[in-house]
Amino acid sequence: MSQERAFVLGGGIVGACCALALLRRGFDVTLVEKDRPGYGATFGNSASIGLASVPPLGMPGMMRDVPKMLLDPMHPLVIRLGFLGRSLPWLMRFRDALAPARVEAIAGARAALLSRAGTEYESLLAEIGRPDLISTTGLIQAYQSTEAFRNAKGGLDLRRRHGIEVVELLGPALHELEPALSDRVVAGAYFPIVQTVVNPLHLTEAIVDTFRQRGGRLLTETVTGFETGPAGVTRIVTNAGRHDCDLVVVSAGAWSRDLVAMLGEAVNLIPERGYHVMIEDAPHLPKVPLVSGDHNVSVVTLNTGLRMTTMAELTAIDAPPDHPRAERIFRAAAGMLRGLEVHVASRWVGSRPSTPDSLPVIGRSKRHRNVIFAFGHGHLGVTFGAVTGTVVGTLARDETPNLDIAPYRPDRRFDGSHLAA
Ligand SMILES: Cc1cc2nc3c(=O)[nH]c(=O)nc-3n(C[C@H](O)[C@H](O)[C@H](O)COP(=O)(O)OP(=O)(O)OC[C@H]3O[C@@H](n4cnc5c(N)ncnc54)[C@H](O)[C@@H]3O)c2cc1C
Repeated sequence: MSQERAFVLGGGIVGACCALALLRRGFDVTLVEKDRPGYGATFGNSASIGLASVPPLGMPGMMRDVPKMLLDPMHPLVIRLGFLGRSLPWLMRFRDALAPARVEAIAGARAALLSRAGTEYESLLAEIGRPDLISTTGLIQAYQSTEAFRNAKGGLDLRRRHGIEVVELLGPALHELEPALSDRVVAGAYFPIVQTVVNPLHLTEAIVDTFRQRGGRLLTETVTGFETGPAGVTRIVTNAGRHDCDLVVVSAGAWSRDLVAMLGEAVNLIPERGYHVMIEDAPHLPKVPLVSGDHNVSVVTLNTGLRMTTMAELTAIDAPPDHPRAERIFRAAAGMLRGLEVHVASRWVGSRPSTPDSLPVIGRSKRHRNVIFAFGHGHLGVTFGAVTGTVVGTLARDETPNLDIAPYRPDRRFDGSHLAA
């Protein structure tokens, strides 16, 4: 019998993991990527396997502070005016997902996926022979203001309720743990479980290299449509031709909404843009990745140097970037590191694929049985890459995943209401 032809659309970390998983499951796999694998959101993130990231983006009471955040030119949350109409359905669901019981349930659904995320990477890295790409570093959430630290307690308690170890530390103990921190940092929380990728692009490339060495095909084409029949999608249409297929995985990150619309379906997904700068001449490179709790800036040492990331900007994927705003925030946050000046070696903007309920979309399309959705991983796409690949491989073979995937189903309301207690 000839092998079934699977097409994975989008070659970020999620698509790369899905493509390799399908190959492992005996499919004839083609990864379709319009650019180069790993150059979407996957390229520029904070490289964290965020195993302690149980709290969703929206926490109870947050709505009260949103107007103040939006008016503050130093705040990382931005909603571009021209994008307000497009983001309104998302914002309404986001507001509804802030109810305390829903936050608790969403946190549980994130914790369930997180509990598998690390071990799935362990297996994946062993399989591709690159255990060096991820290490357990822990992560410090650092605060220069005791008031901001007090306000963070809700998130720390939520983690603890889901079994995550949280170590609260004051000044000297923090500096001992990470000597690159400046004296301005007075308090912090340390999450020992967190892991860090040496470089998310290199991780993706290593997975794609293995995929290709084992006979997987990489097609540099842009998907522009689908042909369908009674059994589902029969052909993928691209800028270069048409390809017969038996199975389709949509894993195109923030672009997935448009592909899903071409299939006649709707998902509540928007681009949530983030920025990074690579810093040159940093006097100290932190060994433990840091998050400034005062400014929402992450700092991580990669194999290519020091990276700072920030911003949650709701706007079109291709809107002109606002690097000056991001850099004002980076400069404000730089005080958490000893002697750090923000000498920018390079700058980047990219789009997180974000859902209002901070949960990814993993599951079969309702309309087309041979289509599987795997996107919407928001702030945790690197973290959830390997586990998403494994689940997609299981669904593709019509097996039941050994994890309840109902919380991530594509036809939910995206406000947490599907997670009834
Ligand atoms: C500043 C920042 C910091 C972050 N930090 C972290 C972190 O520390 N840890 C973490 O886990 N996550 C983090 N994230 C989130 C993470 O980067 C994303 O969730 C993840 O990269 C999404 O991966 P993806 O494969 O779904 O999408 P992408 O990497 O965006 O890949 C999608 C791919 O699809 C391709 N594509 C799109 N349309 C088409 C088409 N029509 N035809 C063919 N190809 C197409 C694109 O070219 C792209 O390569 C961060 C994000 C940002 C912006």
